[in-house]
Amino acid sequence: MGGERIETEVVVVGAGLAGLSAARELTRLGIDCQVVEARDRVGGRLLNEPIGDGEIVELGGQWVGPTQDRVLDLISDLGLETFPTWCQGSNLFERAGKARRYDGTIPKLNPISLAEVGMALKRLEKMAARVDVEQPWKQLELADWDAETFATWMKRNSKTPAARDLLRLAIQAVWAAEPEDVSLLHALFYVKSGGGSLELMLDAADGAQDSRVVGGTQLIAERMAAELGDRVHLGFPVRRIRWRQMPGDVEEQPMEVGPHPVSVESDELTVSARAAVVALPPAVAGRLEYDPILPAVRDGLTQRMVQGTVVKCHAIYSEPFWRAEGLSGQATSADGPVSVTFDNSPPSGSPGVLLAFLEGNAARRATDLPPDERRHIVLDCLVRLFGPKAGKPEHFVDKAWAADEFARGCYGGYLPPGAWMTYGEALRRPVGPLHWAGAETATVWAGYMDGAISSGTRAASEIAAGT
Ligand SMILES: Cc1cc2nc3c(=O)[nH]c(=O)nc-3n(C[C@H](O)[C@H](O)[C@H](O)COP(=O)(O)OP(=O)(O)OC[C@H]3O[C@@H](n4cnc5c(N)ncnc54)[C@H](O)[C@@H]3O)c2cc1C
Repeated sequence: MGGERIETEVVVVGAGLAGLSAARELTRLGIDCQVVEARDRVGGRLLNEPIGDGEIVELGGQWVGPTQDRVLDLISDLGLETFPTWCQGSNLFERAGKARRYDGTIPKLNPISLAEVGMALKRLEKMAARVDVEQPWKQLELADWDAETFATWMKRNSKTPAARDLLRLAIQAVWAAEPEDVSLLHALFYVKSGGGSLELMLDAADGAQDSRVVGGTQLIAERMAAELGDRVHLGFPVRRIRWRQMPGDVEEQPMEVGPHPVSVESDELTVSARAAVVALPPAVAGRLEYDPILPAVRDGLTQRMVQGTVVKCHAIYSEPFWRAEGLSGQATSADGPVSVTFDNSPPSGSPGVLLAFLEGNAARRATDLPPDERRHIVLDCLVRLFGPKAGKPEHFVDKAWAADEFARGCYGGYLPPGAWMTYGEALRRPVGPLHWAGAETATVWAGYMDGAISSGTRAASEIAAGT
């Protein structure tokens, strides 16, 4: 390891929204920085895929919505525009082999199941309101919520299979995981950080799926990188971070990296600095080598924060044929393996694009399948939901994020039972000169683009403040 050597004030690892936001803020504060990115592109979990005629589909994060002020401000700062998600027409809900039309967020179930879902959502809101998103690990009175999964709570709070199916779909849609995977406290933390209502997190109009970015969200990252110019170094997977305690820290450790307490090393580039922002999902950050080894609580956190599993698929047709049939393109299926679909056509409505998500267990089963087989199982579902025309797209594009070396899963990281209380304190706390950013470390819209941005500016402010 080694190659070219650069010295700077702050080295940022990762050119996703978090790393780029950190670098932008450091630059604004007059602090010299360099960004080291593994891939040959910026944007990380944001990825535009061209589909011809100047149009793209987004294989990663795409939606923005009310109260996501950081990302909305950034979009407008960078001269980009948003447009509303297509919501006209009826939605579909499929369960036990039948697809039914409905309007609004919650599908028409039998009245008992509907009441159960309504009550469960209200209870979750009330419980979420009690979570201190800054430091839930200090709320010992909430330890019982961290000791169980969302699934055990769901089973106590809903008895009908239809209500349970709907709550399962909600968990899959937000975490790309199963209710059995996620700590109840983690689910509540997330709901609180996303504005307090699971329903709003699931909503399109006025919710978290309200709007999209004209030209695709990767443009946000590309425009930020253009501002940073040659401070961004692409194609350098960081393998090792050597660090030593800052003066005044408890223990001084010897390190042979010159005058700088941090050295970020890839095969062909080494950047030495006074501080580092590691802007990676915790599960990915945990795969780097640290010399010396990180404190056990930080290392333990990275062993526990699991990346969700999602395959994001796009079937592209000459036109959005479902619109003429009075359908919005939004469907939810309890029968699967596709759990959710959306009309993801560009603003012009041409071509017609159906977006289909495989999430949680369905994505775990599909990720390692040959691409043709994955396409086949997805199109089968789309035909069930939208009829035979859905089986003959002009193109089909998908991305299985768990098979991506530099993401290891998506949408983001979640904590299983027991982890928040014991390891949560290590999520953001700096280790000597090492500062942690990334959507997972946010307290507002954690796991979303909005959270990634605030995490980067927070890490930059920590460094500027000398903490
Ligand atoms: C399919 C999908 C759908 C989503 N939908 C939405 C949505 O609709 N709305 C929303 O707000 N959010 C959504 N998200 C989440 C959103 O995309 C992320 O929260 C956000 O992009 C994360 O940014 P980040 O900078 O924290 O992490 P990342 O984007 O993961 O950035 C980390 C960067 O570090 C790099 N890296 C990794 N390892 C190394 C290494 N060893 N050395 C150097 N660099 C390295 C990566 O290549 C990457 O560029 C979605 C994500 C996915 C995948």
